[in-house]
Amino acid sequence: MSPDANRVRTPGAESDRVRVFDTTLRDGEQAPGCTMNLDEKLQVAHQLARLGVDVIEAGYPAASPGDAESVKAVAEEVGGGQGPTICGLARATEHDVRTCAASVAPATRSRIHIFLATSDIHLQHKLRCSRDEVIARGIMAVSLAKGLVHEVEFSPEDAARTDPEYLLDVLAAVVEAGATTLNIPDTVGFTTPWEYENTIRRVVALAAKHPGVVVSTHCHDDLGLAVANTLAGIRAGARQVEVTLNGIGERAGNASLEEVVMALKTRPELFDGAYMNIDSTQLTRASRLLQQCTGTYVAPNKAIVGANAFSHEAGIHQDGVLKHRATYEIMTPESVGADGSMLVLGKHSGRHALRERLKELGHELDDERFLEVFGRFKELCDRKKFVDDRDIAALASTAHDHAPARWTMVQMQVQSGTQLIPTATVRLRNADGTTKVGSGTGDGPVDACCRAIDAVVGETGELQGFTTRSVSEGTGALAEVTVRVKDLYSGRTFVGHGTHVDVVEASGEAYLDAVNSLLTMRDAEAEKNASLRFPKAKQAKVSA
Ligand code: MN
Repeated sequence: MSPDANRVRTPGAESDRVRVFDTTLRDGEQAPGCTMNLDEKLQVAHQLARLGVDVIEAGYPAASPGDAESVKAVAEEVGGGQGPTICGLARATEHDVRTCAASVAPATRSRIHIFLATSDIHLQHKLRCSRDEVIARGIMAVSLAKGLVHEVEFSPEDAARTDPEYLLDVLAAVVEAGATTLNIPDTVGFTTPWEYENTIRRVVALAAKHPGVVVSTHCHDDLGLAVANTLAGIRAGARQVEVTLNGIGERAGNASLEEVVMALKTRPELFDGAYMNIDSTQLTRASRLLQQCTGTYVAPNKAIVGANAFSHEAGIHQDGVLKHRATYEIMTPESVGADGSMLVLGKHSGRHALRERLKELGHELDDERFLEVFGRFKELCDRKKFVDDRDIAALASTAHDHAPARWTMVQMQVQSGTQLIPTATVRLRNADGTTKVGSGTGDGPVDACCRAIDAVVGETGELQGFTTRSVSEGTGALAEVTVRVKDLYSGRTFVGHGTHVDVVEASGEAYLDAVNSLLTMRDAEAEKNASLRFPKAKQAKVSA
């Protein structure tokens, strides 16, 4: 118990509110296999706004023009009105701070998050400068940012391994310079709950001298302690937590948003009045949307959002839950939006029913895309008796398209078997109306299909990732395929999605989707520089 537990408190007081700072689009997107395109980042950002997060860290604008562009797009589309604060990451340099300020500028509330390493190991080997020089740099960057945006956050990178006295000196200096949030990152996932609680307590004591300054946690899961450390930080007085959906992030990931939110909601008595303004019924939807966008799926036993998180297998447990749910359930599936109230649609459901359902699932599609989804929905109803929310979300997520497709699939024919060389033939329609036929052989039917597409579209990138998943149960279930194709010229990765009852067709669709994004990017680049030449790319290769 904290020493002031007995003082009179106002329930729901502003001083007890824990701000949720979501970094799925920055720290999360940095994770291997979690790359998203602009359209996907916007979908995730809209869902984060529906959840009610306080701050969205949308990216690191100085990293590349593409990053700057997507932070700006999030600021414009999600950061207006009463929307969340839009934040961008910046190193403590004038260039980074100015680039970041320009990207977050369209938001109603904008924030720059400056990070600067403070541990001796980083100072000696990475920054190669003295402790005094680091303080001077921090003051320079914060003072500059203060004049450009509404809020300035400062992170002493690798804080958990920084000399505690020096850490406080740095923080005192940047608060004087105008930082309004002091974030204490456990960059390498090294700390433990009791150690982190002590550190945060000391920083909270320092911040208390400056009204309005908020202390924040940022924990990594290298030792599986990210959520525990974050909760310890809240107990010590932190009033912002940096988290990601599904806990994605560098290496073992960040503290998971859904776990921190539900821990606080399920055990409020342990947190001395601290609370969050999050609509927890949006958690499952947010988690699934991110999984579909990245093609990286959570384990069935993942807390809160895993497929088994609310299923009771043991007979004794089932019996107990049937008699009284609280016997084995500490929270309800409804509270996280994982209720069984999935509306089942079928063959006889009309356009209106589908449109309403899509809206409830967070997909607002224009007429053209809606008709495409409706067509696929009817097709699916012919193959499958019942179509549930998971199927509909999968159909809708492939329909959100980024740019008009250069090539569309007209026909696909694949032969494979034990004594056959897998062979595929595709007919693709170009945006100019002409069609072209190509064929190819490969190690498996999917490989053959990708090569047939290459035969039509010519040089593409390198296939780097391929994930396939069945959306719902049964042999008639939709297969959802996500591929990642790396453009060898620009080094950029393009994500493609395909959804079909036939896994090979879904794969061909996904590959073509990624290739279309790649070609659209090249067209845009070529417009900028007419003399641009692309090197011959390697043949894509995959076995299915
Ligand atoms: Mn991090």
